Amino acid sequence: MTTTHPRADRAAHARAAEAQLAADGIDGVVFGWVDNSGLTRVKSVPLAQLEHAAEYGVGAAPCFDVFLVDDSITSSPDGTGPVGDLRLVPDLDRLTPLAAQPGWAWAPADRYRQDGTPHPGCQRRFARQAVEALERRGLTVRAGIEVEWMVAREDGTPATVGPAYGMTRFVELSDYLRDVMCALTTQGLAVLQLHPEYSAGQFEVSVAAEGPVEAADTAMLVRHTVRAVSARHGLRVSFAPVFAEGAVGNGGHLHLSLWRDGRNLGHGGPGPHGLHPEAEHFLAGVLAELPALLALGAPGVASYLRLVPSHWAGAYRCWGLENREAALRLITGSAPGQANAELKCFDAAANPYLLIGAVLATGLAGLDAALPLPPETTGDPAGLDTAERLPASLPEAIDAFEKSALLREALGPTLFESVLAVRRAEAELFAMHTDADVIEAVRWRY
Ligand code: GLU
Ligand code: MG
Repeated sequence: MTTTHPRADRAAHARAAEAQLAADGIDGVVFGWVDNSGLTRVKSVPLAQLEHAAEYGVGAAPCFDVFLVDDSITSSPDGTGPVGDLRLVPDLDRLTPLAAQPGWAWAPADRYRQDGTPHPGCQRRFARQAVEALERRGLTVRAGIEVEWMVAREDGTPATVGPAYGMTRFVELSDYLRDVMCALTTQGLAVLQLHPEYSAGQFEVSVAAEGPVEAADTAMLVRHTVRAVSARHGLRVSFAPVFAEGAVGNGGHLHLSLWRDGRNLGHGGPGPHGLHPEAEHFLAGVLAELPALLALGAPGVASYLRLVPSHWAGAYRCWGLENREAALRLITGSAPGQANAELKCFDAAANPYLLIGAVLATGLAGLDAALPLPPETTGDPAGLDTAERLPASLPEAIDAFEKSALLREALGPTLFESVLAVRRAEAELFAMHTDADVIEAVRWRY
């Protein structure tokens, strides 16, 4: 029996991909990964270097694990400061020519140590491991992340003056929106819907559900694509949690469904609204850990300017069928396969790999403990004395995260400590800022 080395497999994959990339007019490939602050960082190689890069990776400093949203750098207990190197290795299964950046292809990257072993701080690997833990139980998850953004002119003012959800916005930005949609579909993304959102200049695109890691990759690719199309139209985009004081912000709602043997466990079961016991326990596990999960899904100081009642952001720790003010909204859909749960409290600043991995870990813990869901919230939680607000600031979420033995164990020491260091440093960075200053500081960072 012959065995091949992962490095050799990756090199062979790159060789096989190269001819097609060249025929597609691709000159270079950009490798992207998301840091603990939620910013995508990249390296790129010319096409001729792809094989070598796939085999050995390209260098990336370990201190990227403790980068903040403003590019300042903090430290974590087992960090190595300016010393050491990691290898960024592209996942060529997801190699995609970029429709709005002619000559460039993109691939999401995993991070390895120089000896070829996985870096324990690699967020994408963390998500993959959470998927595998569920697979060992015979369970699979389908996921999707909604992408919302604000599009602006060079001077930062909204690029359209049309009303919320209005046709006026579609008329004013007709070519732009068509280019966004076509770029996404040309790249193989299954666009379900594109629409103007509530806030000035805001839009949303949703794509079909897929595997959790693939959904996180897709969320990144959608955002890069929207940004690239916007740049070609001379427009700027903001994926920041909030871009105008008091306004509805940019959510990054995470949709999930749990499956066993090809059956959606969110439909046709004996539990609330057709949930099967495993789906109920899974969701109860997520709900139980939601305050701690916010440190991953609402990772910035600005996140808590979005996560307020009456902004459809899901600021309450409760669940309800089609309840848009509950953090956990149950959706039955119009067909059995469509039933899913939407976690509304998360925003577009989240590292989607970190978030998805952690959500799956908390769901699995709920399954193990056979946790029941608490009673349903059927109206606006804002009107209820019993309604429990989720953390209202980053320090509150950090507190819950720090106390979560479950997330500490799931993330492992390297990842947990570096996330904690980054969150604490961001809270400190903005401690003396007014809300307006925070919004100003991060509006064009995400
Ligand atoms: N933009 C809202 C948010 O901040 C969500 C609007 C919606 O329900 O899609 O999450
Ligand atoms: Mg929306």
